[in-house]
Amino acid sequence: MSRSNLEKINLFKRRFSGETRAYGTYSPSSGRSWQVKSPVTNRVIYGHLMGQEPYGLYPLQKDRTRILAVDFDDDNLDPVNSFLQRSSHYDLPAYVERSKSKGFHVWVFFETPAAAWKVRRIAQEILNDIDRPDTEVFPKQDKILGESPQFGNFINLPLFGKSVRENRCVFLDAHNDYRVIENQWDFLESLQTVDPAHVNELIELNGPEEAPPLPSTSSWGCEVSGLEGLPPCARKMLAEGVTTLQRLACFRLSVQLRRIGLPYDLVVALLIEWREYNRPSGQKRRITAREVRAQVASAYLNDYRSFGCEDESVKPFCVSSCPVYSRTAQSQDIRDAK
Ligand code: SF4
Repeated sequence: MSRSNLEKINLFKRRFSGETRAYGTYSPSSGRSWQVKSPVTNRVIYGHLMGQEPYGLYPLQKDRTRILAVDFDDDNLDPVNSFLQRSSHYDLPAYVERSKSKGFHVWVFFETPAAAWKVRRIAQEILNDIDRPDTEVFPKQDKILGESPQFGNFINLPLFGKSVRENRCVFLDAHNDYRVIENQWDFLESLQTVDPAHVNELIELNGPEEAPPLPSTSSWGCEVSGLEGLPPCARKMLAEGVTTLQRLACFRLSVQLRRIGLPYDLVVALLIEWREYNRPSGQKRRITAREVRAQVASAYLNDYRSFGCEDESVKPFCVSSCPVYSRTAQSQDIRDAK
């Protein structure tokens, strides 16, 4: 079926809708990207399709999104296949695009705007299932915060004319050896979208109804408000991150956060953010999100009461003004005297 330019633009807008007050772009020669604070007009989309200026979409509209995009940044198709299988298990039709330089984007399209946190939660579940928990997901935030216009992060959209000519930025047929789909416009027209009610059902079946509110963490500076019931060592570990024994530290923090009454989901969210502040010594890598989940799960299995003062992961953060400290010191004295 042939389409006029205007029909193509309208179809493109229908599939890839989000923030209309600004967009992202990049230089195809240097790869440098930046934000353009101008409305997304038909001319912007036409320029993208013709290969003049790439158009990157900010998918969030407050706390809603019409798309989910998962960015697999290497040319290995195995995780992409695994993702498609798992998303099909959740009855979420997903489509693969070869991205502009390397790797693949996997897209899910929603009929109407869906709650971003729910979409992101499901994507994370799938990525955890396939052992790729650190893969980038768009939208990158659950919602746009603050009064001034903020847009979150943009994702470069498919069908940038210049790349299409090199068989890049195009959708691939996962059922046919990942060959380039011949008519990208027929494909875009006929792809299956997901009803946000289905997303709600998935969340009801698999997780909590509400997004856990994160306590204010002051960018994990020294004051970690909302967590006053924690002993000083735990506050320091949260604020500064750790350099060694990350899994042990994660377990100890989970025990402390559980002790002050935080629910499992919130502790997982907090500690996944905390791991970014770790600076592993030597060549060691950071603890992964999957490992964080495992440590939190094990902390929630039993009613652990110990403050872990003797633990090697906690000792470097001990503060002698801590009320627990004198008790610990006394028991140490008693042990030394024996
Ligand atoms: S005494 Fe124990 S609980 Fe208190 S700061 Fe030291 S290690 Fe933490």
